[in-house]
Amino acid sequence: MSEVLVLVDHVAGTVRKPTYELLTLARRLGEPSAVFIGGAEAGQVVADAVKAYGAEKVYVIDDTDIRDYLVAPKAEALQQLAVGKDLAAILLPSSAENKEIAGRLAVKLGSGLITDAVDVAADGTATQSVFAGSHTLTAKVTKGVPIITVKPNSATPEESAADGTVTPFVVTVSEAARTARVEETRPREATGRPELTEAAIVVSGGRGTGGDFGPVEDLADVLGAAVGASRAAVDSGWMPHTLQVGQTGKTVAPQLYVAVGISGAIQHRAGMQTSKTIVAVNKDEEAPILDLVDFGVVGDLHTVLPALTGEINKRKG
Ligand code: FAD
Repeated sequence: MSEVLVLVDHVAGTVRKPTYELLTLARRLGEPSAVFIGGAEAGQVVADAVKAYGAEKVYVIDDTDIRDYLVAPKAEALQQLAVGKDLAAILLPSSAENKEIAGRLAVKLGSGLITDAVDVAADGTATQSVFAGSHTLTAKVTKGVPIITVKPNSATPEESAADGTVTPFVVTVSEAARTARVEETRPREATGRPELTEAAIVVSGGRGTGGDFGPVEDLADVLGAAVGASRAAVDSGWMPHTLQVGQTGKTVAPQLYVAVGISGAIQHRAGMQTSKTIVAVNKDEEAPILDLVDFGVVGDLHTVLPALTGEINKRKG
């Protein structure tokens, strides 16, 4: 069976959920192999995590020499790993960095590339959701090893035990790939909230908050939820861009999505409409978001949210 390389999404060796989603999809195409680019000492921990989702092999590429550079060395590393292998596909979690890696890799391997897929079929046909989710298209790579980046939350991770054999792979990175160097990195301040794309519950605020995200954050915290925002809220500088939900932000598909003071523009819907249960709080009963919801509350968020948070707190005892 052909191998399918899956680039591991991780933070300092802690594997993130999109990896498990991609391994689940990869099993349709062939035999999944995880590719971990990071500190070699974390290789076994990563292998223990990904083997539960079907990774037969775990290629460990020690990034000690390349972590101070931008994406070019990672593209070279994947190219060197791919050459000479019988590969059914290379899957990467969609992120700005990984899409650049995928683009560079596609040029190096002479392969076709599909970005932001939301599904991948057994024959390599990728589904994309385009024009703010108003159209679905399918595409298939016609040349080389298909390279596909897949959006987070596109598949439900399913466990499948495999060997997870750690296979160190040494790369030789060219000088040309070392021409852009990272000078400084500063971690974002920890909020204690779950990551937006991985959270089971997301509470998002929009322009209707008037810039006061306190009630949104209080509700999120009582629910153990992540906080999201509409582009209007982000563009106003009320919330960081990393929390934007929508066509040009993050795609989320939580169990519960609460949209607060958000009108429901098509570009916002594109990032949240596949959420399992959608609740909106909006003072305008004509707001388009109310056409999409399972439960809608027509009212002022500054009244509704504190009441809701208080009630949940009371019931939690
Ligand atoms: P508004 O549309 O102004 O809605 C505010 C809502 O709050 C209204 O429904 C109002 O009734 C309600 N409200 C006001 N006060 C209260 C109150 N006190 N209590 C309760 N409700 C109240 N948008 C995104 O979100 N994500 C994207 O990724 C994105 N990408 C885009 C890409 C492109 C190319 C373009 C052109 C646009 C994009 N947009 C995106 C912008 C999008 O079109 C909307 O402008 C934006 O989503 C509106 O944000 P909003 O709902 O917060 O604000």
